[in-house]
Amino acid sequence: MPYKSKKDRYEWYNNWYATNGRNRASNYSEQAIEYSTRHSKEKAASSKLRYNVLNGSIKKPEICSSCGEERRLLGHHEDYEKPLEVVWLCHSCHKRLHNDKTQEALTSVGNV
Ligand SMILES: [Zn+2]
Ligand SMILES: [Zn+2]
Repeated sequence: MPYKSKKDRYEWYNNWYATNGRNRASNYSEQAIEYSTRHSKEKAASSKLRYNVLNGSIKKPEICSSCGEERRLLGHHEDYEKPLEVVWLCHSCHKRLHNDKTQEALTSVGNV
């Protein structure tokens, strides 16, 4: 945890709110909208996928496509516009993939 105490956390939040909370009409809203559209696409894609797995249209494999271990798998979407095109990964490979992507995204836009 980055916060030492409740007070630190509270101050952090206050700072954040002072910078971002009131400017909903400018910068902040663009990011928020982008985040929420991406997030709702992600949700829509997952539920469509789940539906197709349940009704048998899509067969969920037994082993992870990345490490080859037999584990509980989840479908990773490269493109949320294509909800049925997924890579089946175990939890740890999926997490690693997303961490790498986050790193990539961070380096590609610079240190923002
Ligand atoms: Zn794996
Ligand atoms: Zn994923």
